[in-house]
Amino acid sequence: MTVADCLFCRIVAGEIPATVVAETERTLAFRDIAPKAPTHVLVIPKEHYADVATLAVGDFALAGEVLATVADVAAAEGLDGTGFRVIFNTGASVGQTVFHAHAHVLGGVDMDGDLTG
Ligand code: 5GP
Ligand code: ZN
Repeated sequence: MTVADCLFCRIVAGEIPATVVAETERTLAFRDIAPKAPTHVLVIPKEHYADVATLAVGDFALAGEVLATVADVAAAEGLDGTGFRVIFNTGASVGQTVFHAHAHVLGGVDMDGDLTG
């Protein structure tokens, strides 16, 4: 996949609209188009990396900035007291469908008791 074909690069470029909830110089947070919880925000590096593992190896500081934006979004959404879940699907076999690294920030509903619970 080239960057020009990448859905999330196109959102960064403003070519595809998104409901942006937070932005830093190097990260962007916007609402998932098909939310799986009352709060469902995606946090991405603006630069293209295929997944979080590639991101962490390629730019460790940027991976940290993505996590800092995750924390800011969770606080802004009022989830820092109640709790929230952060998911980085990594690979098609676990459900990654967009191959630009992204954190799912999920909250606002009881999520106790699944794979990691
Ligand atoms: P993945 O399955 O790769 O972990 O997550 C991709 C996410 O991107 C899905 O939750 C999906 O609903 C979301 N998504 C797909 N296309 C769009 C879009 O055009 N805009 C937004 N905001 N989210 C999208
Ligand atoms: Zn991309």
